[in-house]
Amino acid sequence: MSREPGEQYRGRLAPSPTGLLHVGHARTFWTAQERAAARGGTLVLRNEDLDRSRCKPEFVAAMFEDLRWLGFRWQEGPDCGGPFGPYSQSERLEVYRAAFEQLKASGFVYLCTCSRQDVLRAVAAPHAGEDEPIYPGTCRPPAKMAPGRPASWRFRVPDGETLAFVDGRLGAQAFVAGRDFGDFVVWRHDDVPAYQLAVVVDDASMRITEVVRGEDLLRSTARQLLLYRALGLKPPEFYHCQLMTDDSGVRLAKRHDSLSLQKLRETGVRPEELREGWPA
Ligand SMILES: [Zn+2]
Repeated sequence: MSREPGEQYRGRLAPSPTGLLHVGHARTFWTAQERAAARGGTLVLRNEDLDRSRCKPEFVAAMFEDLRWLGFRWQEGPDCGGPFGPYSQSERLEVYRAAFEQLKASGFVYLCTCSRQDVLRAVAAPHAGEDEPIYPGTCRPPAKMAPGRPASWRFRVPDGETLAFVDGRLGAQAFVAGRDFGDFVVWRHDDVPAYQLAVVVDDASMRITEVVRGEDLLRSTARQLLLYRALGLKPPEFYHCQLMTDDSGVRLAKRHDSLSLQKLRETGVRPEELREGWPA
């Protein structure tokens, strides 16, 4: 995964307008911006608005406003264009579909009619901190799918294979397919690409050289490495940030309304006060 010498650094901010941005997201984005700036690189803003039921136009507007207020500047994005657009995921469906067709044609994916409840019922209690239960393989071919039920497409992981990468902050990482994560959805039953596929296709086609994001996505990086390989794409480097927690150690999430950038702004705090002590 080493980059070619002289290759220009390209980083990205990838907010999802499903709510107001909160200070936890902002701190991760700040690290992304600092790392791009330190390398004289380009920063891309990508609007991750695939979830049509949860993404709202007013959140998109608030997202731009909040990011600018806090001191973010990007060189490519939905508002300013650029050579690798469009930069809103909802406008990129053909690109995802082409990648999905490629996976299908190469036999990497299979149809699955399991609901979320089916998967939860079929597995033993998930271990604490896991991002999703390990898919028990119910629909792996050859298998009988439930007829007439909405079907998604899952990527079949190579059971037992270790996916290793060197994280820019945490060093050597390794996850075992089939043990640390199972077959994952790449195309949803409602005909929308799943996060894992969209993000890989976007980071590759936007020529991102380093992905900076929260450490809750470490395991997703292992999944995504499989997609890069299956699609014949070169993966970027990865830098996973520590997540902000509140005083009781609970992770900040979007539902912590009082920590949204808008609410904080209303209290009169200045951007540089808010950024005090953030790791560069
Ligand atoms: Zn299934």
